[in-house]
Amino acid sequence: MKVRFWGVRGSVPTPGPRTVRYGGNTSCVEVIAGEASLVLDAGTGICELGRVLAARGGSVQTELLITHTHMDHIQGFPFFVPAFIPGNRIDVYGPKEFDKGLFDVFRLQMDYSFFPVRVSELAATVEFHDLSEDRFAVGPFRIAAQALNHPVLTLGYRIEAEGSTLVYAPDHEPYFDFMHGGETRGLSRQAIEETVRAQNDRIVEFLGRADLLVLDSQYTPQEYEKRHGWGHSSWSHSVDLALAAQVRHFVLFHHEPTRDDDGLERVLGEARARAAAAGSSMEISLAREGWTVEVGA
Ligand SMILES: [Zn+2]
Ligand SMILES: [Zn+2]
Repeated sequence: MKVRFWGVRGSVPTPGPRTVRYGGNTSCVEVIAGEASLVLDAGTGICELGRVLAARGGSVQTELLITHTHMDHIQGFPFFVPAFIPGNRIDVYGPKEFDKGLFDVFRLQMDYSFFPVRVSELAATVEFHDLSEDRFAVGPFRIAAQALNHPVLTLGYRIEAEGSTLVYAPDHEPYFDFMHGGETRGLSRQAIEETVRAQNDRIVEFLGRADLLVLDSQYTPQEYEKRHGWGHSSWSHSVDLALAAQVRHFVLFHHEPTRDDDGLERVLGEARARAAAAGSSMEISLAREGWTVEVGA
C-alpha cells in the first residue's frame, strides 16, 4: 500500500514562496493498493488529483472518504474534474451531521449563491454514503472509522490492505478536562479524569501499531496554550500519541497555515528530538505535497 500527498495544509490554502517546498493545498491524500485507490478528503489538493485522473482517459471510478465537512476538507470538490465527465462514478463517504446528511452539506456548498453548478447537475454519477463509527470494505481496503475530538463530527480512518496499516486522523485534539479543574457541575473530579483518560486510551488503541500514521500536528506547544478547544494538536501531543501507540512511521500533517517551510523543518527537528529523548527509533516525517510513501516499508 502506498500513500500520495496532494494537500497537506490545515485550515486555509497557503500558496506562495514561503510554502513552496511543503505545499499550500488543503487536505487530500490518495491511498493506492495495486490498481485500486481511495481518496481521503477533498481539500484543494483534490483539484490537481482530478486533473491527473481525467487526463488518463477512460472512465474514472473514485471512492472518496471525507473525515468531516469543515471547508478545508471539502472545498476542492466543486473543482474535481472527473465529477463533470459523463460515465464517471464517484462514491463519497463521510460522517452524518446531527441535522444534516453528507449530501445536504455538499449540496449547501454548491448552492447557486456559492457556485454555478449544483450537485444534482454534475455529469458523473455521484452517490453519498453517511457513516458513523462503521467498519466496511472498499475494494481491497478494510476500513474502520472512529470519532476524533474536533468541533464537528469527525472520523479518523484506519485502513488495512496488502498486509499494512495506515491511520489517517488529520484533525484531532487530545481529550482534556474542558472545565479546567473549575466548576464540575455535579460531577466528581475523579469521574471527569477517568472519562478523559478512557477517551484518550481509545484513540491510542485506534492508532495502535499503525505502519503509517498521518496525524494532526498543527500547533507548537506555545501556540496550543492559546487554542485549547479549537480541535487541533500540538506536534508534541502528536509525538506522544504516536509513541504510546507504537507507530512505525509518523507523518506530521495539517500544517499551520502561518508556518513557512523553515518553520516546519524546525518543528520536525524538535519532534525527532522528543522521540529520541524517549528512547524511540520511530521514523518521523513532514507531509509534503507530491510525496509518495510506501506504507510499512
Ligand atoms: Zn482541517
Ligand atoms: Zn476541521
